[in-house]
Amino acid sequence: MTQNIKTKVVGVDIGVDYTTFAIVDLRGIIVAQERIPTADYPNVNEFVNVLSEQIVLLVEANGGYETVRSVGISAPSGNFITGCIENPGNLPWKGVIPLAAMLRDRLGMAVALANDAHVSAIGEHVYGCAHGMKNFIVISLGHGGVGSCFFSGGVPHLGAIGSAGEVGHICVADGGRTCGCGRKGCLEVYASARGIVQTAREVLAERSENSLLRSLANLTPESIGLCFDQGDVLAREVYRRTGEMLGIGLSTYASVINPEAIIMTGELTRKAWPWLEESTLQSFDEHVFHNIRGKALIMVSILNDNERDVVGASALAWEVEEYSLFK
Ligand SMILES: [Zn+2]
Repeated sequence: MTQNIKTKVVGVDIGVDYTTFAIVDLRGIIVAQERIPTADYPNVNEFVNVLSEQIVLLVEANGGYETVRSVGISAPSGNFITGCIENPGNLPWKGVIPLAAMLRDRLGMAVALANDAHVSAIGEHVYGCAHGMKNFIVISLGHGGVGSCFFSGGVPHLGAIGSAGEVGHICVADGGRTCGCGRKGCLEVYASARGIVQTAREVLAERSENSLLRSLANLTPESIGLCFDQGDVLAREVYRRTGEMLGIGLSTYASVINPEAIIMTGELTRKAWPWLEESTLQSFDEHVFHNIRGKALIMVSILNDNERDVVGASALAWEVEEYSLFK
């Protein structure tokens, strides 16, 4: 008897606001997609119950179990090696949650889980800018954090316990601002949306000249950027300082990894890259090891963030060995 191959998987992206899940075919086409509000489920067991019920409904409405091979999940603080979400800072659940095992038990399918940066990198490798590259870095600039993952020799480098790529917590300013991790001067307290706003407050306190920033009701990366576009000197200073820090972080990273490319992603990149680009690239060139200078492309992702995370999670799903309760 011949066996039909399964041509679809489920990709799940657990975000702070919503959990999106989709049936994705082997070309990366989203066949059907739904979402549930993550924050509505403070109890993780309830979350897993609802998510698995919804996935079953979606699978049954789109070809059934016979056509769906496995599940891939992108989650903040997810660890591919353990299949657990480990001490998430921004999700409603605490501690170490064995989410891959919990979903596998309910769905009877293989489940792979990885952190959002790792899944973004897989998404970029399979469907985006990093297609065909073996050594590259993906950086995500967000509201409060900087995530990253890098590929080495064509595979993601996970590290001994799955914690590689925490570039958000490399020190770029000795004795600098206090980070959520408890240490001082981490990259993400400067190169994040929150960090940019804090830099704007510092610049305004230090300098006395007139600035459009002084009349803003709400300091945000976008409102500061719009002042930048009008030639505001202090707005330019805010982005100069941010780009300086980001360039130091990226150049240190690149000097260690020697990537073909650094791919910038995430909400802040999408909103603020035009204002960050010049100062970041200048600082990068100043600080990177001279033999790497000019050899690492710095580019902005061409994928839509939400779609990349779901199709990236689907690409992850193809990497796990098939498993079925029914065989
Ligand atoms: Zn830190």
